[in-house]
Formats: sequence, structure tokens, C-alpha cells
Amino acid sequence: MENPNPTRGSERPPRVSFVSLGCPKALVDSERIVTRLRAEGYELARSHAGADLAVVNTCGFLDSAQAESLAAIGKALNENGKVIVTGCMGAEPEKITAHYPQVLAVTGPQQYESVVEAVHRALPPRHHPFLDLVPPEGIKLTPRHYAYLKISEGCNNSCSFCIIPKLRGELRSRSAAEVLREAERLVAAGVKELLVISQDTSAYGSDLRYAASAWNGRDVRARFLDLAAELGELGAWVRLHYVYPYPHVDEVLPLMAEGKLLPYLDVPFQHAAPAVLRRMRRPAAQEKTLQRIARWRDTCPELTIRSSFIVGFPGESEADFRLLLDWLDAAELDRVGCFRYEAVAGAPANEIAPAVPEAVKEERWHRLMKHQQPISARRLKRKVGTRQQVIVDEASPSSKPDGRMIVAKGRTRGDAPEIDGAVHVTSRRPLRLGEIATVRIERTDQYDLYGTVVGF
Ligand code: SF4
Repeated sequence: MENPNPTRGSERPPRVSFVSLGCPKALVDSERIVTRLRAEGYELARSHAGADLAVVNTCGFLDSAQAESLAAIGKALNENGKVIVTGCMGAEPEKITAHYPQVLAVTGPQQYESVVEAVHRALPPRHHPFLDLVPPEGIKLTPRHYAYLKISEGCNNSCSFCIIPKLRGELRSRSAAEVLREAERLVAAGVKELLVISQDTSAYGSDLRYAASAWNGRDVRARFLDLAAELGELGAWVRLHYVYPYPHVDEVLPLMAEGKLLPYLDVPFQHAAPAVLRRMRRPAAQEKTLQRIARWRDTCPELTIRSSFIVGFPGESEADFRLLLDWLDAAELDRVGCFRYEAVAGAPANEIAPAVPEAVKEERWHRLMKHQQPISARRLKRKVGTRQQVIVDEASPSSKPDGRMIVAKGRTRGDAPEIDGAVHVTSRRPLRLGEIATVRIERTDQYDLYGTVVGF
């Protein structure tokens, strides 16, 4: 169906609808594209039908994500008719054009310039530089009080299940000054929490040989520790995602204990059995990893550790899987995500060992989740009776039947948005979005905490 709502001459700015699929890194790409388009005078439409053109930022990590991306492109074509595709799936354009030859353009991940050029070709910008100013912090697709801060692109690892290095290329870090300038702008614009992301956060700066750049009158090296320390001085919560358990990660734990960084590490361990880790081409020192976790907790007892695991990796035996369950008992992680292995086309893992049958993957997934659940619940229960800083994500105006207590939803310093649990908060006065309140934790259920505000 053709777009029923074309731009009418110069009466209104050209409108673009935008769909962003995939991980937070893709969301940051989307924010950059949208920021650029807004700066040029484009408006964002809420629906494809209300737009002159649709852009779909795709995810190509797993086959299921590719199917979701193709469905999103089909929907945009149906509802609008003029569609530009970008993102990870754009690295293999023939997969898209085989299904939808009518898309206007396909560009790959991080090709901001090419997406914007394609938009210009299909829908020229209306120049109005003074009316179409963009806020200095850029356009964010996350709520105003938190923002993802991408510190590098690409990855130099070669995990056998992953095609991201093929799609996104080698590690390319941003200079420390560039990252800090963006972080400072975000904080000045009201952002209270910075979520540091990349494919491999602890590898930050290795491609730049840790070169220093000038920021606020001094030189800051592009090193994981130096950047984290500077970010910790900006007055916002700073949360580190996708950190690998390299020895130098130990250095940031004192910053967490001092309250400069959130006491939170998102570390994708993926497995614990040495044979599986070897086939995954991941560091295979699970004993050392347990010792490292113990040391981290000695330095910062408040630390929350989130991780993700893959079950049903080619060649994973029952003994390997049991070893993983035993390791989870010993590691006592706070939050765990689990994925059934999917044979992504082009990933070397598919050739390494025989595939695990789907029914076995399914059974192991349920066993792992059931095994971890009481561990996570025990860790969460330790917070009952404590006072926690809680950032407000949803300030619901509803009140309890007695008409006095207002209910809101937030997160502790140990919970990342969208992936971890929430705190359900009662308060005698309304809470603002992004406000940080002190909450006495009264009870838990499997994933969430419940408490009452005792201070602002
Ligand atoms: S670290 Fe491994 S899983 Fe992560 S992006 Fe790099 S190759 Fe992929």
C-alpha cells in the first residue's frame, strides 16, 4: 500500500517513522540517526501510516531476530510503502532484497551517513535551520532520565557462536574525551543514569593503544579504568554492561565500593564447562573466575552480578551441563539470563561439534532457569530490611484504596532498566520520573522488591 500521507510542499516538515530492533547498541545507532534527521528538520511520526518514509533498524544476531526484522520491514512496506533498511541485517542485503525487492535502500550497521543520504534521496530535507534545532543532548529513544553511552564499535574477539565481528568489524573505540563530552551533555540535559555499552567494554581503548585525549584541561587515557573513574565524577549513576572477566576489571571494584560507579557488573560468562568454553573460544578458567568473583565481592560486598549463558551449544554433554549448574551454585550470581543455542548462519560453532537436539536444549533451558531461581531469590532477599536508593522509572498517579499512599515503580542501584527487576514503591508524596528516593525494602517476590519511601 502506498503511503496515504505524502508531504505537502513546504506546509509541514518531512516525517519519518522509525523502528529500532535489537540490542541497546542498535538503539544507540538509532538515536544517532534520529538525532541527525531531527537536526536537519525531519519530524518523527508515531506510525508508519502518518509518515512520508519509514526507516527500519534491523537486528541480525540470531535467526529469530532476522525473522522479526523481516516481519518489521513487511509491516512498514504495507503501512507506508517507502522503506529504508539499516542495521546488522543490512550487512547481508541480499537476505532483505530476496524477500522485499521494493525497499528503497539497504545500509549496514553504523553506516549513519549512508542511511541519512538514502533518506535525503527519497525524501529531501526542508531547510529551516532556526526552527528545527535539536536539543544539545541529541534525541534519545530511552526515557529522559537514563541514556545508553556507547564507548566503542565492533569486537576483536572471535567467539565461535557470534557473527558480530563479521557484521560490525574490528574494535574501534571512541576517544575518552569524545565519550566524556557526550556523557557531560547528557547529564547537563537531565540524565541521571548512564548505561555504558559496547560489544566488549573491558577491551575499551586497546585499539587506540590507550591514547590520551584532552578533556577539561587534562589528558585522559582511553583505558577502561581511567574512563570509568572520570565518568564516576559526573554526578550520575554509571552502570557497566558487557564487561569480560579480565584481570584489569578488578581495578574498577574500589570505585564501586566508594560509590563512584554503581556496584553492578554485567558479565556474559556464557558457560562454565572448560570443554564448552574452549569450543566457544572463550577464556576457559572457570576456577579462576570463581576466585575473581569472590575477590570482587570482598572489595565491594554490595556488588550485583548479572550474566547470561547459552545452553545446548554444539557438543554440550550432560556432564558439561551439570558442571554449569554446579558452577552456578558456587558463583551465586544475582541475575541470570539463559539462551538456547541457535545456529546462526555463518557462525563457526555450527561446524565444530554435533548439534544438541532441540528437545534437549529446551529441557536444559528449563532446568537451568529452575536451578538458578532460588539462588537469585536468596540474593534478592538479603535486601529485605535494608534502605536502598531507588530511581523512579514510572511515577504512577494511582493511589491505594486508603487514598494516601502513592505507588511508583523504580530500580535499585543493582537493577538495570529493561533486563532486571523492579522496586514497587509506596510514597506519601508523588514521585517524579528520574527522582532518586531512599526506600525501606519490606518484602520480595521472585524478581521484584517492595518498599516504602523513607527519604528523598
Ligand atoms: S565478545 Fe564474542 S560474543 Fe561478544 S561481540 Fe565479540 S565475538 Fe561476539
